[in-house]
Amino acid sequence: MSILEKKVSYIHNVIQKLIKYEVDVAHYERKKFIQNYEYTKKQLSTVLFFITLAILLISMYVFKSIQKDHTKLELTTNKLKKANKKLENASYTDSLTSLNNRRYFNLVYEREIKRAKRKNSYITFMMLDIDFFKQYNDTYGHIEGDYALQSVSEVLKETLQRPSDYVFRLGGEEFGVLLTDTDESNSAKLACDICDAVRDKKLKHANSSVNEYVTISIGIVCCIADDTLDEDVLISRADEMLYEAKETGRDRYIITSNVSRAKVKST
Ligand code: GH3
Ligand code: MG
Ligand code: MG
Repeated sequence: MSILEKKVSYIHNVIQKLIKYEVDVAHYERKKFIQNYEYTKKQLSTVLFFITLAILLISMYVFKSIQKDHTKLELTTNKLKKANKKLENASYTDSLTSLNNRRYFNLVYEREIKRAKRKNSYITFMMLDIDFFKQYNDTYGHIEGDYALQSVSEVLKETLQRPSDYVFRLGGEEFGVLLTDTDESNSAKLACDICDAVRDKKLKHANSSVNEYVTISIGIVCCIADDTLDEDVLISRADEMLYEAKETGRDRYIITSNVSRAKVKST
């Protein structure tokens, strides 16, 4: 081998070694890079996992809080609705007798007459008044008088039990009854039952010139409602019938089915 060849071989060896070194370095660097990459990837995944978990937990907490607030709000709204209903009921109820009061009468009367007019059906209005109640108070005192009012109210509640029957304390010892879909004979039967039941309560009334017990008089108007029916006439006719019941002896009802003519009946 010539010197030149030897030198070339030497250079070749050196270059080979250099290349191998470079390749080794490259391999090493690549391995290191991949290791770093995997490590960073793992780190990032962990961080991402915790961030997601934190977001999930915060969302759950916020959701629960909103849900709790919503439930609270719902409960408060329900309580408020119930309180309003109670207040509304109280404003329509007579405190002594627990019957509907005049305010409720004003609301229901017009509505029921309109309904009857639409259906062309029967409407009955009764005016009830305790006989010689002033004397009753004078004889037994106001507290006993209140008790008598409550007893009469009980009779009305017990006798008129259909959901469409309305009983009102219109004021003092006067009551109103509004019936729908009840014809003249049935209205008269109910009025008769009321008079009997009040008498049968046997509330002693020593100073009544009608009976030894508390009695009532009733004026009734019963007709088929049509477009020509005047709401006020219904009240004034019932009032007239009540007046007649008082004039003709009390402890009775008088019913009319005609707004211009009345017929008299005694119980
Ligand atoms: P009539 O048979 O003609 O109806 O005679 P009356 O004595 O019942 O009629 P009047 O209208 O003169 O008397 C009604 C009485 O009702 C007078 C009043 O003292 C009494 N009264 C009104 N409201 C109440 C109440 O809330 N409690 C009591 N205890 N009495 C009342
Ligand atoms: Mg009266
Ligand atoms: Mg009276």
